[in-house]
Amino acid sequence: MTADALVRSRASLRGINEMIFEALSPGGPGQTAFVCECSDGGCFKPVWLSVDDYARLRLEPSWTSLADGHTPAGASESELASVGADAA
Ligand SMILES: [Zn+2]
Repeated sequence: MTADALVRSRASLRGINEMIFEALSPGGPGQTAFVCECSDGGCFKPVWLSVDDYARLRLEPSWTSLADGHTPAGASESELASVGADAA
């Protein structure tokens, strides 16, 4: 599967982030580049989060990892935008 095919599926992007998360240890190596899950299928922007931040945020069903200023694909925007800003 090509990277281009991967980014066309929002579910796949979340799956990539889950694989990144599961490969890391809690309290692990500072900021980690997760993938942006915005509505742009060609977006390759990294979203920098700590392992602990991702562990907390993934419990929110509506949460999507987004690069700063990117638009979520259907999720509520207010919290998501602040996550991107914090990571910048
Ligand atoms: Zn994006």
